[in-house]
Amino acid sequence: MKIVFLGAPGSGKGTQAQRLVADFSMVQISTGDLLREAVAAGTELGRRAKQAMDAGELVSDEIVLGMIRDRLQKPDVDGGFILDGFPRNLSQAHSLESMLAELGKRLDAAVLLDVDFDILMKRLTGRRTCSKTGKLLNVYFSPQAELDACGAAGGELIQRADDNEETIGNRLDVYRQQTEPLIAYFEQAGLLRTVAGAGDMDAVYARIKGVLGL
Ligand code: ADP
Repeated sequence: MKIVFLGAPGSGKGTQAQRLVADFSMVQISTGDLLREAVAAGTELGRRAKQAMDAGELVSDEIVLGMIRDRLQKPDVDGGFILDGFPRNLSQAHSLESMLAELGKRLDAAVLLDVDFDILMKRLTGRRTCSKTGKLLNVYFSPQAELDACGAAGGELIQRADDNEETIGNRLDVYRQQTEPLIAYFEQAGLLRTVAGAGDMDAVYARIKGVLGL
């Protein structure tokens, strides 16, 4: 299957995409992850992207489209893919449409993870990664025992560079202004499948499989 995951920052796109990848033969293509890798590797592209990312703005279409074009040409996408965090504005959506047409591919669905604003804020401001185990945790939602286990393993709870309150506010504004119009775009294309993204991760995952007929 070829799927786009739509949803605000914190809606759970990355987490749910990872689960689909683990259970079905698909690859996850996350522009956020690809950009963070480029930043960590200190490449020219990473240097150009970092400033926009730290401010919660979108990285230029030119950079992101180049990355996606390269990625969609690798053979492992033939088993199916999930685009996570892309497209993020209408111009990226139109470019994706022509890229896929050139490659002779078509999307099967665009899954929208729908989550209320106050839950998004808690998910984002509370999000931490354990430096030792890599486990993703949340200071509001994770059981205290799991949070304590990170320290006990000799790790620290680290916050993503763009998970501070100011940048989060900006990322949510950018989502409303630039990404939300894609909901109507995919609806018109007959591809939109909306899933309630609040509550238990397993329940959300079951809903996603339901709308995809998996
Ligand atoms: P989130 O959706 O949780 O904010 P992501 O990991 O998807 O996080 O993206 C982090 C940052 O990377 C974004 O705030 C933006 O700066 C940049 N980015 C990711 N995907 C795109 C894209 N498709 N177009 C432009 N910028 C992007």
